Parts: sequence; structure tokens; C-alpha cells
Amino acid sequence: MIVPSLSLQDIESLRQDTPGVRQRIHFNNAGTGLAPEPVLSAVKQHLDLEASLGGYEAAAAATLALDTFYTGIAALIGCKPHEIAYIENATRAWDMAFYGIDFREGDRVVTGRSEYVSNFFALLQMKRRKGIEIDVIEDDEFGQIDLAALKASLTPRTRLIALTHVPTFSGLINPAEDVGEIARAAGVLYLLDACQSVGQIPLAVDSIGCHMLSGTGRKYLRGPRGTGFLYVGDEVLDQLEPPFVDLQSAVWTDDETYELVPHARRFETWERYVAGQIGLGVAATYAIGFGMERIGNRICALGAQLRSELSAIKGVALHDKGRRKGGIVTFTLDGEDPGDTKARLSEAGINVSVSKASSSRIDLPHRGLDAVIRASLHAFNTEDEIEHFIKALGKSGQGPVSL
Ligand SMILES: *Cc1c(COP(=O)(O)O)cnc(C)c1O
Repeated sequence: MIVPSLSLQDIESLRQDTPGVRQRIHFNNAGTGLAPEPVLSAVKQHLDLEASLGGYEAAAAATLALDTFYTGIAALIGCKPHEIAYIENATRAWDMAFYGIDFREGDRVVTGRSEYVSNFFALLQMKRRKGIEIDVIEDDEFGQIDLAALKASLTPRTRLIALTHVPTFSGLINPAEDVGEIARAAGVLYLLDACQSVGQIPLAVDSIGCHMLSGTGRKYLRGPRGTGFLYVGDEVLDQLEPPFVDLQSAVWTDDETYELVPHARRFETWERYVAGQIGLGVAATYAIGFGMERIGNRICALGAQLRSELSAIKGVALHDKGRRKGGIVTFTLDGEDPGDTKARLSEAGINVSVSKASSSRIDLPHRGLDAVIRASLHAFNTEDEIEHFIKALGKSGQGPVSL
């Protein structure tokens, strides 16, 4: 089988477009991906337009670019443009769907060990406020969500399956499609947090089978910070009530009434980072231009290479779970606090992050881990950078690497 990947020329052009790669080895794409030049210039151009024309006037002049956000994200995840809402980040996007469900006491929500910290807070709050029950499904022997246990957990009171596709703290790619099949068969709402998977691997909502999906601009999509989106499929629109309404999401019809606008835009708010929305549309189009399958294969291959090289180093313990793994690589070094390793790598010109137990209470501590180093690779990273990284990891007190 031929695995389509990026050509050397593609990788060179990705790097040409990415000013940051000339300064640092950026292995923190699960934190924020480095934005490429077309995204940066679209944002800057719109800010300049706002400065010269006025904000309302600039937005009116940019309707085409604003529309590209909806068509770009829709093309990226395989839905209709009207099923996409622009939201200021993935947390609020997920919230708009979750708090849009009219939970009753005794309703059950099923989730897994990968669930994102802020999503889990929402579950806990809903448990306290409305008396819902939270079913946390165990991992299977590979470390992904246990599908048989998930299926067995469903009851007539189960209202929602909330799954994080790729956790923030592991290389795992959860079997979102299999979960979708189970959700569809049971007729249960399915909300997918695709924050780390969008832009990292190809996504298609119809093959995943999710009803709602949240994503961020700032990570693997390489869009501006403070941007995100929510997909709400037409078929479930009537099952959700936007938890907040404003003049974007509704029309004021008379003294006593308002009507929600059609489709997913009823989850939006009026005021927004217009330059950011434009930039995120460009980021989606940029990724599609290289091909998400190629980008995804490249990222997964780099992740696999880094894991394999790390596994050869004495004192390194790898912590990625899952049968299928992506570009996020987590590990610890014997005898060194992850925060110290991060600081040491930073001095050598390498960006990584640290995932802590405090933001993964239902996972890392259960595996006896307090913190792990997270190196998250993107398609613009190179095999050479991985070699530099491995060398820097083995040494201490070295100056910055020369690029
Ligand atoms: C980063 C992250 C989020 C939050 O995204 P924001 O856009 O910062 O709100 C949600 N879920 C996962 C899995 C994440 O990694």
C-alpha cells in the first residue's frame, strides 16, 4: 500500500512559509502551532484595514474572506458550511454544545480517560447542578477507550458520549469512528473534542459519526490564537438550545419574542476577532492545499521516529498510549524533573511542553505519573531537528544548537 506523504519540496515550502523554524526547533505544536506566512499576513492585513477604514467598514469589505472560514473548515472536516459556527476557542465551542443539552437528574454522560480538563469540569459542574451521572470508561489493553466497555455502559438514561479524539497529554489517537458507530446504533448524542486532531490527521464527520465537534485554531491548524469552531450537524440542531443568545444567534421579532437563526450560527456571538476568523479560514485552506492525508502521515511518521529514537536512550520512559499514535510524544527522563528537562531544552533552542497531573486527574495519576514532557511534532519539523533534539536531551549545559 502506498502511503501518501509530503514530498521534500512540500516540506521545504512548509518551512519557507514558517518564520519560526529559523529561530527555534518548535516541538510544541500541541500548545500552539507556528502560523505560516499566509495566515500571518491575512491577520495583519485585516488589522491594517481596520486601522485605516474602521472595524465595521473593514468587516464589510472582508465578507468573502469571512465566508472562507466556513467553507474552509467545512471542507476540512467534511460537512456543510452552515453546520459550522465560529467560536473564540475550542473550550467555549465544546461548552456551547454541552450546555446546550437539556440535562435532567439521573441522565448519564459517558466519557473516557483522555477527556480534556475543562470539559471534565463542565461534567462535574453539571453533576452538581443537575444531578447527572458521569461514566468514565476504562482504557483497553492498548490504552485507547475500551469499546466493549463503552457499549456495555450505555443505558436508556445515557444522553451523551463525550470523547476527546487525541488527548492533550498523549500520542494516543482514540478510535473515534468506532465510538461513532456505537453512538449511532444506540441513538445517543456524540460530542467529539477534536482540538488536537484537527490539522494533525484527516477528519470526516460523516465517517466519524459524531453529531457535534469542537476544534481550536491555535494548535495543529496553525491558525491565530483566540480562534475556534464548532460543528453541529443539521440532524441534531433541534436537540440543542444555545446556552446564550445574542444578536448574532437570534432575531428580535417583537416585544416578547425572538427567533434563533437557522443552523449552527445560532451558537455564535456577534462580537469577535474578525482578523482571527479570517486567519483561521486561511489556515484551513492552507492545510487542505498540502492535503490532510499527506500532512497526517508525515506527522505520524515523525512521531514514530522520535518515539523510536527515544526508546533507544537509557533512562527514557515513553508514556504514549494507544494502538494508533500521532505526533504528540510524551516521556520522562530518569532522575530529572520534566520541568527541568523543558528548561534545559529551551536553553538549547528547543520548545517542548510539560503535561501535569493537575490537568489530567483521570489519567496521568492513575498511571503513577505526576508530569510528562510533551514533544509535539508538525509536518514542517524535520528528521534533522529530531537528531538535534536527541543530542540536546542527552547533554546538559550546552548552548543553543546551530540550525
Ligand atoms: C487545548 C485543548 C482544548 C482547549 O482548546 P482552546 O482553544 O484553548 O479552548 C480542548 N481540548 C483539548 C483536547 C485540547 O488539547
